[in-house]
Amino acid sequence: MQQGLIQVYTGPGKGKTTAATGLLVRALGQELKVLLVRFLKSESLPSGELNILQGLPGLEIITAGVGGVEGRKRPEQIRQNVAETFAMVRPKILAGDYDLVVLDEFNVVLGNGYLPLTDGLELLDQRPATTELVLTGRNAPQEVIERADLVSMIQAEKHPFEQGILARAGIEY
Ligand code: ATP
Ligand code: MG
Repeated sequence: MQQGLIQVYTGPGKGKTTAATGLLVRALGQELKVLLVRFLKSESLPSGELNILQGLPGLEIITAGVGGVEGRKRPEQIRQNVAETFAMVRPKILAGDYDLVVLDEFNVVLGNGYLPLTDGLELLDQRPATTELVLTGRNAPQEVIERADLVSMIQAEKHPFEQGILARAGIEY
């Protein structure tokens, strides 16, 4: 079993979730066991990659379905959904059953206080030595950056949204 590190994909530019998705495809191709936990996502607009990834051997996907873009949920509802999802996945991660764990939007979860920062940091500190942990989302808290072995800060030099081009199927979702 090889060593697992902490990776953070953050910043205002596009490419955080897609980078993590590419990495998990690569990992599956090497027969690693992968857990993808999607925070702050609405079930009503599933992103395209899920249609192809769901059911792949070696991959488990868990979605915390409250707090996505069109959700307009109260912070309290988001907090509860995040807490329930975290309580479910935390023991699974700590049990060491996965080689790669992607916590999508976890930086936002911690940065916005949807989960106490200490809970998130504790998971980072206690993760099994052979589990690679990938955290995505804008505005990663400094404490997360400090614990990471790899940090990719994706800048937004340009984005078609600024030209009025709205989200496109298969590209943005
Ligand atoms: P992607 O899923 O495309 O890799 P991301 O994970 O880096 O994007 P998020 O912060 O999760 O970006 O943003 C969610 C949505 O907003 C996605 O549809 C993404 O393509 C889009 N997006 C990302 N960056 C920008 C930006 N700078 N301006 C406008 N829309 C953006
Ligand atoms: Mg994303």
